[in-house]
Amino acid sequence: MKYLDEFRDPQLARRLIDDIQERATRRWKIMDVCGGQTHSLLKYGIESTLENCVELIHGPGCPVCVTAPETIEYAKHLALLPNVIIATFGDMLRVPGFSASEVSQANPPLTSSVCPGSLADARTRGGQIQIVYSPLDAVELATQNPKKQIVFLAVGFETTVPATALAALQAEQLRLRNFSLLVAHVCVLPVMQVLVGDPNCELNAFLAAGHVCAVSGHDIYRALVSESGLPVIVTGFEPLDLLAGIRCAVELLESNNPQVVNCYSRSVSSQGNRFAQDVMATVYKQVDRKWRGFGTIRGGGLALRERFAEMDAEKRFGTILQIPIVHQETCRSGDVMAGRIKPHECEHFGRGCTPDQPLGAPMVSNEGACSAYYRYAPQTKRN
Ligand code: SF4
Repeated sequence: MKYLDEFRDPQLARRLIDDIQERATRRWKIMDVCGGQTHSLLKYGIESTLENCVELIHGPGCPVCVTAPETIEYAKHLALLPNVIIATFGDMLRVPGFSASEVSQANPPLTSSVCPGSLADARTRGGQIQIVYSPLDAVELATQNPKKQIVFLAVGFETTVPATALAALQAEQLRLRNFSLLVAHVCVLPVMQVLVGDPNCELNAFLAAGHVCAVSGHDIYRALVSESGLPVIVTGFEPLDLLAGIRCAVELLESNNPQVVNCYSRSVSSQGNRFAQDVMATVYKQVDRKWRGFGTIRGGGLALRERFAEMDAEKRFGTILQIPIVHQETCRSGDVMAGRIKPHECEHFGRGCTPDQPLGAPMVSNEGACSAYYRYAPQTKRN
């Protein structure tokens, strides 16, 4: 396929692999912070091929995986209200909220509208949930259903933020009174700062996601590199992109030369996409946000600015439920996303937790590390 085959050339890949293996004098720990990269690294066998010289760790780069269970609970609560339709991307449907035991053990008891499970479970109880392919589809849904309240579940990193910001601007222009956003957007740099700030952090370098950098520019990582001493290499998603990024990381690590390097220059510049950044800044401001598996991260998310307060679902429908329980996840997504364990080291992997019956978000999403391991890791790691 034109424009793709040249980034999957097996001979070039072999040369890059040989080069990495020759350069590496020890086994370096390199984290990707992008679910798309995680899947490519597993799908094309890069992780296992380089196992002797590079340990690839799959960080918190899956937007579905990091969305807090409280957000799922609130979306379910809204979906079960009369006249409210939750509009969302399909892979949010099966992400677990709280479990049945957590809901039943809540003290004081939760409201009757809280049901265990996912948005799909809420749908079986009559919740109104519509799958859309873009935030603008949700705006269209609102124009076509003036008697319904349409709430778009706005999740994801900087890659999806410009589109939801444009939807907010369009809804404002159309003066829609029945469109709102349940905002759960997250920002990638703060979670990387959390990871390197952990005194037990053993990472040596990051692969940064090309699509995030296409929006934000790669200059955003300069301070992180100078503070942490860890190189950040911007890469794409095809095998040669990833191998070139890993080779660059190993080269920098072997020469003790931490810096930001852009190995995805066909899409990324130092400053990023100014138009997208302006749209984002018009609609959103940076706030603290709770991440699944990480807790609250300072500056880790976005919220609507005051100008768009009427479009804020939490303001329109009331503050998020007082959920008076400590979330006791059986899922070890936090350990997986922080690189403390590999997916197959979770005791539920492939047993109680499979893509058909996921216990946690990383097994649900197409970008989740557990799902990638289940699909592509060698059999030895799946048993
Ligand atoms: S295997 Fe399942 S339970 Fe374990 S961390 Fe992954 S998603 Fe969670």
